Amino acid sequence: MKTIADLGDLRGKRVLVRSDLNVPLDGTTITDDGRIRASAPTIKMLSQMGARVIVCAHLGRPKGAPDAKYSLAPVAQRLAVVLETPVAFAEDTVGESARAAVESLPDGGVLLLENLRFNAGETAKTDADRAEFAGELASLADVFVSDGFGVVHREQASVYDVAKLLPHATGGLVEAEVNVLRRLTTDAERPYAVVLGGAKVSDKLGVIGNLLGSADRLLIGGGMVFTFLAAQGHEVGKSLLEADQIDTVKGYLERAEKEGVEIVLPVDIVAADSFSAEADHQVVAATSIPSESMGLDIGPASSTLFDQKLSDCRTVFWNGPMGAFEMAPFAEGTRALAQTLADITSKGALTVVGGGDSAAAVRQLGFDDSQFGHISTGGGASLEYLEGRSLPGLTVLDDEGDD
Ligand code: ADP
Ligand code: MG
Repeated sequence: MKTIADLGDLRGKRVLVRSDLNVPLDGTTITDDGRIRASAPTIKMLSQMGARVIVCAHLGRPKGAPDAKYSLAPVAQRLAVVLETPVAFAEDTVGESARAAVESLPDGGVLLLENLRFNAGETAKTDADRAEFAGELASLADVFVSDGFGVVHREQASVYDVAKLLPHATGGLVEAEVNVLRRLTTDAERPYAVVLGGAKVSDKLGVIGNLLGSADRLLIGGGMVFTFLAAQGHEVGKSLLEADQIDTVKGYLERAEKEGVEIVLPVDIVAADSFSAEADHQVVAATSIPSESMGLDIGPASSTLFDQKLSDCRTVFWNGPMGAFEMAPFAEGTRALAQTLADITSKGALTVVGGGDSAAAVRQLGFDDSQFGHISTGGGASLEYLEGRSLPGLTVLDDEGDD
């Protein structure tokens, strides 16, 4: 993998940087700027090298056409604050505004293009459909730096196709993320535990098959729990359940037993009447969730159990909140787990937190990034890496062989 240093003298060169600036927004207010702060060092470094820095990124899921709700304008403002330097903003991605802004960019200047996904070509399924947009993006710049770790598992124009059209390098953030994940997949210090939670259950079940061959313990929380409990024959009421995954989960439970991997499930659950912060709620045994209620957090006994199972671990990867943490009554499980990870980090364990909502959760609950070994900016990307899949946005950078 080539790094920025391998690109030579960049003074006056137009450098297109793909960053991941997909931050959570409440209206136009950024509720967690972690991805902006994580992206800033690469942009700053290029600017200090005298490059003309053209940053491109996506926000949310607009449908391939401009949509004011998903404008990156608030992100440009915050990026300027974080970088402590002015950031120009183009009102389109590859149109007249973008071209004019690139034209007037001074050496060391920074420009953010409007949301990549305002263009249907960005996420189009076929190479041919992405090619035109990738070509337009490439025509804005002399070199490409791939630094959006959160999107390297996507075969998209600004991640994959553009790297084939320009001399390219891996940015510092992608490099750092890959280095940490490589430690987890090659020489993780043991005991090594993985904690999975969150709501994207079917996305995340896939990783379990691979983890059964590498982790010593697997702790399950969040919305995942209920498919596991159902697989063991328990009632889960109105909780999040992926009924079509029950057989897969049964298979995992059997395999885990055979391979000596300990699967740790919650023993109690905070069950609520409805998905609301005002809902009546109570702690119940995980094996007796009332049919009329839904589990929205792991209970206190589960948090204690998880703390015990993690306290001697030397390596922990965590993806997915333990409950619907956005609502105060269901945030305790996530808070307790974050505290456990912070505690073992201070005892020298390597802890990695992955996933957009998980990273936002720990910050929202008052933890500092420095209390964990690494907070990954990529949820899906880090999971696919741990699954052992090859990530298109990384392999495309590794093309020395066919140059
Ligand atoms: P990440 O972004 O960290 O990968 P996900 O996107 O998979 O995590 O899931 C995050 C969401 O999961 C949060 O919005 C949280 O409210 C939700 N969640 C966690 N536990 C539950 C649960 N038991 N029922 C419903 N939603 C849950
Ligand atoms: Mg998420």
